[in-house]
Amino acid sequence: MLYQRSSQLFAEAEKVIPGGVNSPVRAFKSVGGTPIFVKQAKGAYLYDEDGNRLIDYINSWGPMILGHAYEPVVQAVTEKAKLGTSFGMPTELETQIAALAVSMVPNIDKIRFVNSGTEACMSAVRLARGFTKRDKIIKFAGCYHGHSDSFLIQAGSGAMTFGTPNSPGVTAGTAKDTLLAKYNDLENVRSLIEANPNEIAAIIVEPVAGNMGCVPPIKGFLEGLRQLCSENGILLIFDEVMTGFRLAKGGAQELLNINADIVCFGKVIGGGLPVGAFAAREEIMNYLAPLGPVYQAGTLSGNPLAMAAGKAMLESLNNDAAIFQRLEEKTAYLEAGIHRVLKANNIVYTINRVGSMISVHFDESPVVDFQTAAKGDNETFKKFFHGLLKEGVYIAPSAYETWFITDALSYEDLDFTINAIDKVSKTL
Ligand SMILES: *Cc1c(COP(=O)(O)O)cnc(C)c1O
Repeated sequence: MLYQRSSQLFAEAEKVIPGGVNSPVRAFKSVGGTPIFVKQAKGAYLYDEDGNRLIDYINSWGPMILGHAYEPVVQAVTEKAKLGTSFGMPTELETQIAALAVSMVPNIDKIRFVNSGTEACMSAVRLARGFTKRDKIIKFAGCYHGHSDSFLIQAGSGAMTFGTPNSPGVTAGTAKDTLLAKYNDLENVRSLIEANPNEIAAIIVEPVAGNMGCVPPIKGFLEGLRQLCSENGILLIFDEVMTGFRLAKGGAQELLNINADIVCFGKVIGGGLPVGAFAAREEIMNYLAPLGPVYQAGTLSGNPLAMAAGKAMLESLNNDAAIFQRLEEKTAYLEAGIHRVLKANNIVYTINRVGSMISVHFDESPVVDFQTAAKGDNETFKKFFHGLLKEGVYIAPSAYETWFITDALSYEDLDFTINAIDKVSKTL
């Protein structure tokens, strides 16, 4: 495959956009080479500016769970656009999508819409601090909650890919209120709580981690967090920006049968438009302005185009009783195929998977937290990534990312991908 036009476009972009991209992982820094510029996409396929077709395993980092240019979403957005694109006034549509989300997700009474996952997590933490009148939070190494200051402490994913887990510009004052714990290590959390009695407002966690590759919670971990939070007056925040409306209608809360106090959404909930949201039971949500003292706002929050896309997406998921089962089966099929060919080619690897989140780590030891995720062989990953690209298969350009499986993938696409992995494995 040739990437002549993409390379040219990247060179032009670099002149006027820092690093040529508007979000760092897109730049291919950790795998080398120059990024691919997309022209259009449909279903499971991306078409780039050089005319190459790629099977897409990123799907805009999650949102396109039903495929690119998904007809009901496209239709909803184009129809809405003709009626005006932003008002800064309430619309009926906002109530409709809010009611739908509240009906799909367990344990929430009210939801507020924002414009990104970052904003959702940032606002959730402010709300938790206001509600508990405490300052500190606990986050886990390797979990990503967006790029707001309090979270850029060993933040996995893009932040990790670039080796700047503690970004300059985050003040010491902010950093001191973020306590860092090890994922899947309950004792570690317990000792942090004991060392900071009555100071911790919230524990924020990806219930299934997806920003250090896919790392499932071990049995008892989330249950233990729930119990520690309840015993110590701490709010449990599930960052379901990745898992929400992906692992089940009601996200990880439903799949794993654990109730969080505040839940954050992004990605799928916007159907491909910039949307985030956070939700909780009434008592907590009523703490937000204009009802309560915790301030949170947004000129474009609840934007009609974004809400139309999100509503069309949630309705499609809500009305398709088999969707999450189908995603599970497709991803399990892919997993089995990858096992088969990597084993046959004597590759050292681990695969982690929960539902339609899956990742391949080039190390044989179990990947259960950030430390074990970081052990993967990045040189092998680079070759794997570029090998797959040559075969027409696009996975995330970083070893720290989950693959996001879309229902638009056919079993033919999956077989094609497994064959490509077989071919590439022989070159590793
Ligand atoms: C992507 C992601 C975010 C950040 O969302 P943005 O829309 O990129 O700001 C937060 N938390 C998790 C778990 C994510 O995967």
